[in-house]
Amino acid sequence: MGKVGVKLAVGCAVAACVVASVMVGRRVRRKRAWRRVVRVLEELEEGCATPVGRLRQVVDAMAVEMHAGLVSEGGSKLKMLLTFVHNLPSGSEKGTYYALDLGGTYFRILRVQLGGQRSAVIGQDVDRRPIPQHLLTGTSEELFDFIASSLKDFVEREENVSERIPSERRELGFTFSFPVKQTSSSSGILIKWTKGFVIEDMVGRDVSECLQQAISKKGLDMRVNVLINDTVGTLAVGHYHDEDTVAAVIIGTGTNACYLERADAIIKCQRLLTMPGDLVVNMEWGNFWSSHLPRTSYDNDLDADSPNPYDQGFEKMISGMYLGDIVRRVILRMSEELDVFGLVSSKLHVPFILRTPLMAAMHEDDTPDFREVAKILRDTLEFSEIPLNVRKLVVRVCDVVTCRAARLAAAGIVGILKKIGRDGSGGIASGKNECASRSEMRRTVVAVEGGLYTNYTLFREYLNEAMTQILGEEIAPNVIIKVMEDGSGIGAALLAASHSTSSVDTVQIP
Ligand code: ADP
Ligand code: MG
Repeated sequence: MGKVGVKLAVGCAVAACVVASVMVGRRVRRKRAWRRVVRVLEELEEGCATPVGRLRQVVDAMAVEMHAGLVSEGGSKLKMLLTFVHNLPSGSEKGTYYALDLGGTYFRILRVQLGGQRSAVIGQDVDRRPIPQHLLTGTSEELFDFIASSLKDFVEREENVSERIPSERRELGFTFSFPVKQTSSSSGILIKWTKGFVIEDMVGRDVSECLQQAISKKGLDMRVNVLINDTVGTLAVGHYHDEDTVAAVIIGTGTNACYLERADAIIKCQRLLTMPGDLVVNMEWGNFWSSHLPRTSYDNDLDADSPNPYDQGFEKMISGMYLGDIVRRVILRMSEELDVFGLVSSKLHVPFILRTPLMAAMHEDDTPDFREVAKILRDTLEFSEIPLNVRKLVVRVCDVVTCRAARLAAAGIVGILKKIGRDGSGGIASGKNECASRSEMRRTVVAVEGGLYTNYTLFREYLNEAMTQILGEEIAPNVIIKVMEDGSGIGAALLAASHSTSSVDTVQIP
């Protein structure tokens, strides 16, 4: 070999060494980055852990906070609002009633025909449409004008003119799922907005009056005779079908719960309560807070970036509006460690771009190569090629976030049962609570409604599993969770019917 040949060979060897060491270096860096990403996941798992012991602490905290909220106004983060709903539908309601359900994402109009026999909803028409985004932050006039127009269109479409007796005024139940201080069963003042709504001129105003004015302006002959929130509607339907229903929980865009409480346990309102017996209390549990809740830096950041920081802490860990965004924040954090995620995608920085139904679809992807995960990451976040191990990691993140949410919701439900002595433990000390021993635990039904619970199978499974873990194998079979499809709307129509002839007392709450 000549001199040139030797030089060439040495050059090639050096180049090969450089390439090899660059590759080794890259592999080592990638390995380290991957380890850091896995560490992010592990920290998330630790931060979101909900062992049954911790859930029981949440149960106790919920029951104690409920009691505190019933003792005095402002006594707890749980508002424990009086609804003035005494008489839940009995089953004898007859006639045609309308309902309007303003949730967080959808807006539903219903026309329900009742046959006068329990479980005899003989006819039902539903019109469901999304609430236009711009109305979430507009004026109350724009919002109610839109609602009244849609209502008028619906009535004109659905009503058979020959069937209607012109002297009969139409009656409507209005489900308005935001915190309202009721002044009667048909009126109430908006306390604050949640779920991304910000219509400042509405806060402090009577919600029914706004709707009634908008309806009258459209020339529609209809009276708003019940104002409730979605939990109360769901409880009404639950009770209509099954008298053992004692509570209702909504798990949709937002989350909330109501339940039947003994009038004498509502200590803060004793002078307003003239009737004995049970009353529906709207907990506004989305605002529940306890140091036992497993909170992470992602929750803190989401809260700080929200239009309502320090508010609705429980809701921000549980409900459909937020779960997808918690997952987005974790993926964003991971992408800071591993370039395969992030550098390509500025979309990952866009708040709420990863909606919860998409997150659920990734979580429930059962294709062997997680094709659906790759597709959603590509279509929504504009990622290019996502390796299989990264897809699996994303699924794991969805799992951790959903599992925590579902288990906390279960703990909240058991908290209610504990407060009213239906968890098999005898309840918390709050006066005259019956002490049900384990053996005499009564059949207890909790009505559940909301798109997150009804559409997200794994969420539902985690929630049910946690209920059994918390209550124990012996008690759990006595507690039945029943789904009430469209419960919040049908319930408003049922309550419009049961309040149709009864006089309504207007009381001023201090
Ligand atoms: P609203 O809260 O407006 O009354 P829903 O009860 O129908 O409406 O809940 C809608 C919410 O449920 C959506 O915002 C979404 O977060 C959640 N959701 C809907 N479909 C799914 C799904 N397939 N998987 C997971 N979550 C879903
Ligand atoms: Mg709803």
